Amino acid sequence: MTRIIDGKVISAAVKDRVKEGVAELNKKGVTVGLAVIIVGEDPASKVYVANKKKACEALGIISEEYALPENTTEEELLALIDELNNKKSINGILCQLPLPKHLNEKLIINSILPEKDVDAFHPHNVGRIMIGDYDFVPCTPAGIMEMLAFEGIEAEGKTCVVIGRSNIVGKPMGMLLLHKNGTVTICHSRTQNLKEICKGADILVAAVGKPGFVTADMVKEGAVVIDVGIHRTENGLCGDVDFEGVKDKCSAITPVPGGVGPMTIAMLMQNTLTAAKKQNKIGD
Ligand code: NAP
Repeated sequence: MTRIIDGKVISAAVKDRVKEGVAELNKKGVTVGLAVIIVGEDPASKVYVANKKKACEALGIISEEYALPENTTEEELLALIDELNNKKSINGILCQLPLPKHLNEKLIINSILPEKDVDAFHPHNVGRIMIGDYDFVPCTPAGIMEMLAFEGIEAEGKTCVVIGRSNIVGKPMGMLLLHKNGTVTICHSRTQNLKEICKGADILVAAVGKPGFVTADMVKEGAVVIDVGIHRTENGLCGDVDFEGVKDKCSAITPVPGGVGPMTIAMLMQNTLTAAKKQNKIGD
């Protein structure tokens, strides 16, 4: 029987853990605070920000939302980040992407203090992931590692294939699996023999951004399939994996919705707690 990996259950367990951690800090007189900056009116970004705020409130994390108009200048945004970098009650800063085109995303991300960069997008944190000495991991790959750990699925010695090489998902995902002693291949749009490579995977992670891209003929019998994709269709949400076609072939699979998606916010909460502990020199 194929195991359906339930992101709702696992993310609830992570959130419970974070809630306890926040309460522990509060007992020591330490608060945990996250600032979320959103520039412009992107409807999807607004939903994400509202969900982050709700999660903070449920876990005892103080959330500050900075909703800036579309025509915000780079100077104004950098000034706000500078203020938040220096604000003691704020442990984590997140700038919701994508930013309007006139703002230099790289410059903005690089202006967030690495110790407050709970998205782990700053080059300092990216470099630390590379060498395997990190405090924060981008929330989606972190959530996937949490799911594998929860399910007792080990990457050690396994053939792991990640489809997608984005800085947010594919690349850090590959590094995390490598740190767990998986043998990792990262595929992308120029990969040749993609099907053959995927068919060799014990653990297959799809972060392609194309609905139903991974079909049964690309999956090895008994593989673990992790679907990162999120697509809104007429029939509701779907992922990068043809779930119905693939599910009977693999040993475990994440559904969409209810798989990787719920993990992302939970891991953001986890990163914010970690930031507060580090900044207050409180160990685990
Ligand atoms: P992205 O930046 O668009 O990256 C997509 C990757 O897929 C690229 O590396 C691209 O290769 C590769 N690709 C595209 N077409 C391909 C093909 N035909 N064969 C092989 N590789 C191909 O996307 P992303 O930000 O990583 O996100 C991927 C998906 O995950 C999206 O559906 C996104 O909505 C979803 N997502 C979900 C969460 C969550 O919380 N669940 C979080 C983040 C993202 P090139 O580099 O060569 O172009």
